[in-house]
Amino acid sequence: MKTVSLIIPCYNEADVLELLKKELNRVCDPLKEYQFEFVFVNDGSKDTTLDILKDFAQRDSRCKFISFSRNFGKEAAMLAGMQYAVHADYVGIIDADLQHSPDLIPEMIDACEKEGYDVAAARRSDREGEEALKSALSNTFYKVINKVSEIQINDSAQDFRIMKQKVVLSILSMPERIRFSKGIFTWVGFHTKWFSHENRERAAGETKWSLRKLAKYAIDGILGYTSSPLRIALWLGVLMLLIGVGVGIYAIVRCFSFDELLMESFVMLYSILFLLMGIVLSLLGVLGEYLARVYTEVKGRPVYIISESNIKQ
Ligand code: UDP
Ligand code: MG
Repeated sequence: MKTVSLIIPCYNEADVLELLKKELNRVCDPLKEYQFEFVFVNDGSKDTTLDILKDFAQRDSRCKFISFSRNFGKEAAMLAGMQYAVHADYVGIIDADLQHSPDLIPEMIDACEKEGYDVAAARRSDREGEEALKSALSNTFYKVINKVSEIQINDSAQDFRIMKQKVVLSILSMPERIRFSKGIFTWVGFHTKWFSHENRERAAGETKWSLRKLAKYAIDGILGYTSSPLRIALWLGVLMLLIGVGVGIYAIVRCFSFDELLMESFVMLYSILFLLMGIVLSLLGVLGEYLARVYTEVKGRPVYIISESNIKQ
């Protein structure tokens, strides 16, 4: 019998877990030809999420939980889930809040099992119900990243997916600590079937993504998949050099041919100074961002720390 392991990252999801479990049972129980396992990853929740997960584990032997020592983020939760679940024939990822409809799961498994796809993934068919600002920023982000990086990310792609074991193995072979799954999923490739999926309201609770968290995620994504911001430094440098030479020649010519007003040249000088300093400092900032990421990777700290689990290693 083939095994399917569903990973569910949970951060303060106590309000929705019972409902999610009911839905998962409803969808998965009739699929008798597969053996299911639900891997709940408690990402340092501050509510009663962990108690509920322990209760699930007692009532249903298919329920596993991995509980982090603090909040490490959804990326870390998905990684922990995949590292455990890689023994399964099919590994799935689904949000706890029921925004990802479990009803798609049987079709997704079929796409891999019967149609020969390696990945069956969901993509949002609309952005309805999302804040206008969030949508606009997100659109700009994907435009930028697809222009400047080596990979093409589908802007509506979601983490909701079912993958064959070989796909999970290749994702796990990527050792980076600053993980950006949308990039990783695209980077590893494989034959993917896309399922369009309407944007649903959260069943309960509220979103864990603040604008600040999203901005950090976006910067990680861009810096992780392209070094072109560094190349901008080179081209700006060349441009500055050319402008400098041009202005210099112009100044010499003016000096010899006219009586210059002292004040005007001061103003000019200051504006050029500010301009140059601004450019130099922002480029240093870009360098700093890359350096900070290199530093984080080199330290080699674990991506997450487990405090409790019902999984025997
Ligand atoms: N999540 C997590 N750790 C976090 C933030 C979110 O494990 O630090 C989980 C969360 O419990 C949910 C999924 O990731 O199952 C998606 O989060 P959310 O619904 O808040 O994001 P949105 O759907 O608003 O993008
Ligand atoms: Mg959600």
